[in-house]
Amino acid sequence: MANYQDLTIQVKKKAIQLGFPLVGVTTPDPPAHLDFFRDWCAAGYFGTMEWMASPRSLERRSNPRLILPECESILVLGSPYPIPQEEISRGMIAAYALNQDYHDVLEDKLKTLVDFLEEITGQEIPNRWYTDTGPVLERELAQRAGLGWIGKNTLLINRGFGSYFFLAEIYLGIELDIDTPVTEGYCGNCTRCLEACPTGSLLAPYTLDAARCISYLTIEHREMIPLELRPLIGRWIFGCDICQKVCPWNQSIKEFPEVIKEFKPLGDRIKIDLIDELGLSQDEFSARFKGSPVKRTKRAGYLRNVALALGNSNDEAALSSLAAALQETEPLIRGLAAWALGEINGKETRQILEIAAKNEQDSLIIKEIQGALDKLTKTSTDY
Ligand code: SF4
Ligand code: SF4
Repeated sequence: MANYQDLTIQVKKKAIQLGFPLVGVTTPDPPAHLDFFRDWCAAGYFGTMEWMASPRSLERRSNPRLILPECESILVLGSPYPIPQEEISRGMIAAYALNQDYHDVLEDKLKTLVDFLEEITGQEIPNRWYTDTGPVLERELAQRAGLGWIGKNTLLINRGFGSYFFLAEIYLGIELDIDTPVTEGYCGNCTRCLEACPTGSLLAPYTLDAARCISYLTIEHREMIPLELRPLIGRWIFGCDICQKVCPWNQSIKEFPEVIKEFKPLGDRIKIDLIDELGLSQDEFSARFKGSPVKRTKRAGYLRNVALALGNSNDEAALSSLAAALQETEPLIRGLAAWALGEINGKETRQILEIAAKNEQDSLIIKEIQGALDKLTKTSTDY
């Protein structure tokens, strides 16, 4: 059997072949950032993602051996995805979500890596793998495995690859050669991400209030989006790339990443016409986003986001689509369509909203319609 150093070299070579140019190994020691994470949870910055702060989740994050008692090493991997293109569309989806769901793509590759290790060692190896799916402080593990440092935007940054890559971890019941941790950050005096974040969710360096973050609001948040944050979301309809786009480490990516074919963006997800998008039926939504991370929002969440982006686009051409969206059965869509109509203030907007107010039964949506009518009144008296 190969010794653990040879084994490490071989598995790293295999990982690179599979599309993980970033690969390192760390120990299953308890994470040093746990107190920071506990404080973050205690401050309630997780929005409605209560599962993150549950006692079970905290306990499992506190010690990798609670997840895999036989764990002797953790293989940490990074797979790049395409750098966002210029804003050529009217509706924007975060770059990582423009093609196949990374969970599906990466899990197959992680399984291949475990099979490879079992084949060359000739033994079954206890293992657990994660791709942003489990109670794992994965950025800390990645830093410890030498993949990069945690930036002030809270993302992992690598000097050569920037931050546009997915992370994955395999907990292994076998010894591998441990890499030297990255102990220093290279953000220096830069604060570009904090200044550029439209919703002010980066409260301080390294501290994200997820409840204000566009990625959270457009994906994980299943309710109405808070009124004061709506104008700040702009045209993002799934996720947000701003704090990565402005990062100097993403401007000077030295090793332009070879992206695996599954992550190459699909054209129809780059060129999104928001007006067409608002007309997607359930079947059309399912077909369009089959195998894509976007399906996570479900149609109701997605069209809520599209209506919001249309409100922010202030395009009178959207009025009839928004009026039609007021007939949707999903309150989330009706509510944001009403809000968007109040933002656009076209010739017939008031009449559309007044008719909707008469027919609406849901008190929350009546409030949205009334808010939109008030906005129209305010806008017309401002002139
Ligand atoms: Fe701010 Fe967007 Fe980054 Fe969230 S993803 S912290 S909203 S810039
Ligand atoms: Fe660090 Fe500047 Fe990048 Fe923010 S934008 S993560 S401060 S280097």
